[in-house]
Amino acid sequence: MRYVSTAGARLDCVFCAALAAGDDRRALIVERGKLAFLILNAFPYASGHLMAALNRHGCSLEDATSAELTETMELTQRAVRALRATYHPDGFNVGVNLGGVAGAGVPDHLHVHVVPRWEGDTSFMPVIGETKVLPETLETTHDRLSAALRSLSA
Ligand SMILES: [Zn+2]
Repeated sequence: MRYVSTAGARLDCVFCAALAAGDDRRALIVERGKLAFLILNAFPYASGHLMAALNRHGCSLEDATSAELTETMELTQRAVRALRATYHPDGFNVGVNLGGVAGAGVPDHLHVHVVPRWEGDTSFMPVIGETKVLPETLETTHDRLSAALRSLSA
């Protein structure tokens, strides 16, 4: 079942475009919920960098409904579970950037970053300002995490 058509969707927005693309593997979507979805970051800080995003474009944190917030956090929880089972990280950064000035790459589409972290992985962090060399392709990460999410209970 698909949940694509959302009021206010904009195809110049990477999240709206991903939801509407019709090819979740290519769009890097690993799981869809009713009000939110999980998508791989196309420019990850580390392998497995996921984002739990609202379906609704232009919805701020202040305006999100309880149901939207609940589902976004439930997807964040599932992301952590799937990443822990698949990549065995030592920790996570989980967070929200509000506004471009705060580092939001897609400021009009609310999303929670989930970044797995390992001891001694600081060279992967963007503060270094260099292209990150990742140990696997996004397609491989998509396949591994999709399988992990399917194996989690709903
Ligand atoms: Zn959007």
